[in-house]
Amino acid sequence: MTLNTKTLLFFSALMGFLVLLLAAISLYSFRQFSLYTAEHHARSVAETIKVGLTESMVNGTIGKRSEFLDRLADVPGVQNVRMMRGPAVVKQFGPGLAQDHQADGIESQVISRGEARFDVLEKEGGSIFRAIIPYIATGHGTPNCLQCHTVSNGTVLGAISIDIPLTDVKRQAITATAMVSLSVFLAALLTLLVLRWQLRPLVETAGAVKTVVTQAIGGAFHGRIKQRGSDEIGVITGQLNQLMEFLEEGIGTIGRRVSELMGHHHRPLNVGNQLVTTTEMVEGLVEVSRYKQAIEEDQTKLEVYQRLVNVLNDKYDFHQFSIYEVAASKNRMAPVAVDGEINAPCRWCDSQILIDANSCRVKRTGHEANGIDSPGICTMFRDEGEGEKHLHLCMPITQSGTVGCVVQIVVSLEEAPLAKFMIPFIAVYLRETAPVLEAKRLMEHLRESSLRDAMTGLYNRRFLEEYTATLVATSQRRQSPFSVLMLDLDYFKKVNDTFGHEAGDKVLKTLAETLVKSVRTSDMVIRYGGEEFLIVLLDTSGEIAMNVAEKIRAKVEETKISLPGMILQKTISIGVSEFPSDTDTFWQVVKFADVALYEAKSQGRNRVIRFIPSMWTTETGKS
Ligand code: GH3
Ligand code: MG
Ligand code: MG
Repeated sequence: MTLNTKTLLFFSALMGFLVLLLAAISLYSFRQFSLYTAEHHARSVAETIKVGLTESMVNGTIGKRSEFLDRLADVPGVQNVRMMRGPAVVKQFGPGLAQDHQADGIESQVISRGEARFDVLEKEGGSIFRAIIPYIATGHGTPNCLQCHTVSNGTVLGAISIDIPLTDVKRQAITATAMVSLSVFLAALLTLLVLRWQLRPLVETAGAVKTVVTQAIGGAFHGRIKQRGSDEIGVITGQLNQLMEFLEEGIGTIGRRVSELMGHHHRPLNVGNQLVTTTEMVEGLVEVSRYKQAIEEDQTKLEVYQRLVNVLNDKYDFHQFSIYEVAASKNRMAPVAVDGEINAPCRWCDSQILIDANSCRVKRTGHEANGIDSPGICTMFRDEGEGEKHLHLCMPITQSGTVGCVVQIVVSLEEAPLAKFMIPFIAVYLRETAPVLEAKRLMEHLRESSLRDAMTGLYNRRFLEEYTATLVATSQRRQSPFSVLMLDLDYFKKVNDTFGHEAGDKVLKTLAETLVKSVRTSDMVIRYGGEEFLIVLLDTSGEIAMNVAEKIRAKVEETKISLPGMILQKTISIGVSEFPSDTDTFWQVVKFADVALYEAKSQGRNRVIRFIPSMWTTETGKS
């Protein structure tokens, strides 16, 4: 209900009530006043008659009282006058004249009780005030009643019944009441009009405030209110306008800034509810900042990928997507996560991209490939979904100006519009992921290279030092032995001396390849020294290790190393020891293998020797 309607209703009700109350009070007052006047009038008439009759008795003209009574009936305001004799008078003077009526029930009551009685009677001609007043004998004054009446003091001599018409009085009362009511009504109407006129600015301002505030709740802050005057309403209006300006400017600025951060440059922000959009974006930024902190604190690239997978899975509810990593040097790509699974095989692209990364449009161009807006934009996309048609959306993770990763999101036609809306938000995540991934990649590369020998690509001694503890712990936990082979080329110095250092290097590289090929991928081949190698055979007893070592020895012997202008063949000596049967100290196992190698050299080289405790003499222990 509007303020206007409320005021109108309240005021009308109040005025209606007031008019009714006034009418009731007026009518009641008039009635009381009329009754009082009529009673007073009746008493005066009764007293006049009493005086007249007493005079007649004293003067001896009581016999002519009928003319007197007839004249009284003509007095204006008196309709009917009747005299009744009491029993004492009837007894003393007889029933009297025709005007001296026989008393009716009420009149007899008045005569017997000696108390006046007043009634309002509704008759055909209108309302009548009927007064019945008794005449009571008194012995006071001169003349007094007892001089003529042989009755005792206080005896009721008779009564007079006077009818006074009230119709006129009633009509006047109604007219007066109507006049009063009309005046009040007119006054009320006038007041209401004045009030409405006075309230108009307030009502109009309230309406305008409502509109502006409703718009603001809906996210539009451009509404302003026309200012009227400088009273309280004017002040409120001015302040509200100021507030709206502040909000419009403030939220606009925040929105623009946040929008820039979110990469919304080309999208107008004030679509829909500006406040809601801005709040959502700020929340999004907070989440991104948390994500960034988390990935920065992650240790490996894989953990970062897993976190990105979680964002796509849990936050954006994508379940079909791929993350590809572009190899740093070679033109290759490898899937690091597919459909939420780390290291799953390639699914949504032709496997061509794996061996020729440039066939991936995003890798080649460095720009997103939006298959939602432009279906078929990338020919490498393979719709592997069942039944429904799917679209792809591929975005780059750019590291140092080149595409380091490609994130491919696959959606159904139904999901496509929402996915499209999400692009800028996902782009923010990818933007934040890029430098962290790059740092991790670099660190992993550095770390990897510090653990490998540059010339042969084999692990180095540092690697062995770092992994010793893990190696021993794993073996102990699984209660599974491992063996150590210590290998040294025979007469290698000769190669250097005869064919030069470069030829020696070539021999070492070829040997490294031979060694790697001769063992399982889970085994570790380490360049232990210049031309000394160490192999750790996991889950392998000394006995089996002997077979492996023999196989290696034979293979090395067979291997033809091509040098410029000639083919060279070399032999190798190998010492074998086992953990934990020989000793449960890692470096002691290495030492024992070395002792066995020394034994192999002493026995003439190109052979495999298993360590036995007797080899560990005070002599060898010192060496
Ligand atoms: P033995 O049969 O007793 O092992 O005789 P050997 O000549 O192989 O003797 P030794 O193992 O002591 O020789 C090590 C030689 O390996 C010394 C060094 O010149 C050579 N060497 C070590 N590292 C490299 C390398 O990186 N490249 C080349 N070309 N030679 C190396
Ligand atoms: Mg050596
Ligand atoms: Mg040697």
